[in-house]
Amino acid sequence: MRAWVVTEPGPMASGPLELVEREVPEPGPGEVLVRVEACGVCRTDLHLAEGDLRPRRPRTAPGHQAVGRVEGTGQRVGVAWLRSTCGTCRYCARGMENLCPSSTYTGWDADGGFAEYLVAPSDYVYPLPDDVPAERLAPLLCAGIIGYRALARCDLPPGGRLGIYGFGASAHLTAQAAIAQGATVHVATRSPASRRLALELGAASAGDRPPEPLDSAILFAPVGDLVPPALEALDRGGTLAIAGIHLTDVPALDYDRHLFQERTLRSVTANTRADGRAYLELALAHPPRVTIAPYPFESAARALTDLANDQVNGAAVLVMG
Ligand SMILES: [Zn+2]
Ligand SMILES: [Zn+2]
Repeated sequence: MRAWVVTEPGPMASGPLELVEREVPEPGPGEVLVRVEACGVCRTDLHLAEGDLRPRRPRTAPGHQAVGRVEGTGQRVGVAWLRSTCGTCRYCARGMENLCPSSTYTGWDADGGFAEYLVAPSDYVYPLPDDVPAERLAPLLCAGIIGYRALARCDLPPGGRLGIYGFGASAHLTAQAAIAQGATVHVATRSPASRRLALELGAASAGDRPPEPLDSAILFAPVGDLVPPALEALDRGGTLAIAGIHLTDVPALDYDRHLFQERTLRSVTANTRADGRAYLELALAHPPRVTIAPYPFESAARALTDLANDQVNGAAVLVMG
């Protein structure tokens, strides 16, 4: 089979990804072999290619939004970021398996979906319907699920004012979920195309900064410099959740300007399977508008380069030929 692997992590211009031929993997006990139909491209894949996240094993295929069919049964499934947890630690026991210290991740601890086949533990894959194109389902698996958890973590009150910083794949799904709940959504992004998309999807504003104080905000852009202004833009008692796995350094905070009046700053760390199931149920019952930027499988490196250059509008997805 063909697989894209990270050889030498570095800037996309240095060619950190290589297309290789390898054996189709063998599923172990409790695992399924999945023939990939499409795989979403996430900023985390870019962090893995560029080395912002340290590799955990050599020559690993990234990709953690894989839609495919289980060999043997033909069942349509999705393979997402959370690959396994221990099930017994204090966090797993409390329903917080996203914090399990022994958790493993698709495309980081094991080969992911930038390949024609992958194996995954059967307890961690999500059943998916047959009648939706694979490329429409793929972005739900990380962009959708992580955005859903971020929306829960930012404590948006009913009918509240939500700020969204950065408007990529996850943000455009999360904005729709929030608007559907009755929120007023303000999007801050530099890209003119993303501003247009935000307004089309029902955002109340899209510009440099929100025009009114916010009850809640989610930072999707991996830019620590945005944390102080995003905190400052919160109303009293507001919450800022940082959605990404990687963030550049946060500058010094001024207690009075950025935190006092009970403003809260939170991270979002992966997701539980319960988050995944809840989000997929919601997204399949009320399908969001997914703006897809499809790329042929052979063009994975170009897809990541476009993502690095902020040239993807919506969700990039690799589609098998
Ligand atoms: Zn992701
Ligand atoms: Zn655990």
